[in-house]
Amino acid sequence: MAPVPSERRLDGGKDYPLQEVIYLLLCLGFGVAGAVVARIKGSSMFLWFLISAIVPVFGLIALVLYRSDREEPRRQCPGCGRIVKIHDALCTRCGTELEYPDVVIEPEATAQRG
Ligand SMILES: [Zn+2]
Repeated sequence: MAPVPSERRLDGGKDYPLQEVIYLLLCLGFGVAGAVVARIKGSSMFLWFLISAIVPVFGLIALVLYRSDREEPRRQCPGCGRIVKIHDALCTRCGTELEYPDVVIEPEATAQRG
């Protein structure tokens, strides 16, 4: 009569859902990573914590690819005076075709720092 090996309890044991715990820890880790990257980029830490935790891999990729608008240089549309991003080829309000401006308005992030 050989005794039942104690390892047998680990096989599909429902009392310790190890995979779920690992997955939750993974989500939490990605969430924290997302929050840290968001802080560096000047975005909402809470928002990106949620996004990164809910969709762990894709959330973090999206955040890395995400360009913060606050860091974009801006300029003023000669047609209507609207402040637009410097990479915009057309004014988003009046549709004026925009050439590269003589005057560049500093990014919001920089302006708020000074
Ligand atoms: Zn305009």
